[in-house]
Amino acid sequence: MSLYRGRFAPTPSGPLHLGSLVAALASFLDARHARGHWGLRIEDVDPPRCPPGAADTIRRQLDAFGLHWDGPVIRQSDHHDAYAAALERLATRGLAYPCSCSRKQWRDHAVYPGWCRDGVVEPHKPQAWRLRSDLGLRPVAWEDRQLGHQAFDPATLGDVVLKRKDGLWAYQLAVVVDDADQGINQVVRGADLLDNTPWQRQLQHALGLAEPRYLHLPLVLGDDGQKLSKQNRAPALPDTEPAARPLLHQALTLLDQAPPAELAQAPVEEQLARAIACWTPGRLRAAPGRRLTGATD
Ligand code: GLU
Repeated sequence: MSLYRGRFAPTPSGPLHLGSLVAALASFLDARHARGHWGLRIEDVDPPRCPPGAADTIRRQLDAFGLHWDGPVIRQSDHHDAYAAALERLATRGLAYPCSCSRKQWRDHAVYPGWCRDGVVEPHKPQAWRLRSDLGLRPVAWEDRQLGHQAFDPATLGDVVLKRKDGLWAYQLAVVVDDADQGINQVVRGADLLDNTPWQRQLQHALGLAEPRYLHLPLVLGDDGQKLSKQNRAPALPDTEPAARPLLHQALTLLDQAPPAELAQAPVEEQLARAIACWTPGRLRAAPGRRLTGATD
């Protein structure tokens, strides 16, 4: 088997919180248990969403939790040329098209109905680029390491935007190009991204890129039953090692790794050494999410 290559790929829209720690920790443990490579990629393709300093905060937080990455930090904002080349290949093959439609125009439809597929409807207007989800690999199926067999018809999910009208690259294209460029062959991330995977598989197929294995993690939910996120004001993680210790223990508990109670205040390196040795993703509960309250003391 080729060397395991995994990554953590946060969007620097703010500091990490417990939900993002769980995703970072699971991908780290999975890579380290396999003696593989674990990279850090800052997904900063959307500058208006990324306050200055957020990427540095994320790096400090990961360091405090002992989640040290291999190699240089990769930044998507350095990769515009690679995204442009990928889009051009898709367009040449008729798998991507410019689109002038606004969300308001198709608001009565569940997904964008593809009005610009055969020519831009309003050519004088600014244009986004969309994927022809009806022409590529269909259906998309994979064996998820956590969720088992998954099958989707991407056409029912719609023609996703690859480049926005304002010229910014969209997540779907950037993530696929970068995972391939960095030789990523294992993706461990939250189940909130599960329904993005069909488009990503279509893009990999269309661009002739290798398919990584996927493990989509159960989400950490807050008291309100919603996914912990910056939007619902999940508290920021600390960026000092002593403060990180109990939260690392809590994140290991949320990942069903049963960390010994006596390690709750232990240095993060000690907690991680045990967790790497004992990492068993199969212990993750099948439930698609769990409440934070009740899951921890
Ligand atoms: N940047 C994405 C996020 O922060 C994650 C991308 C991925 O893991 O594929 O939600």
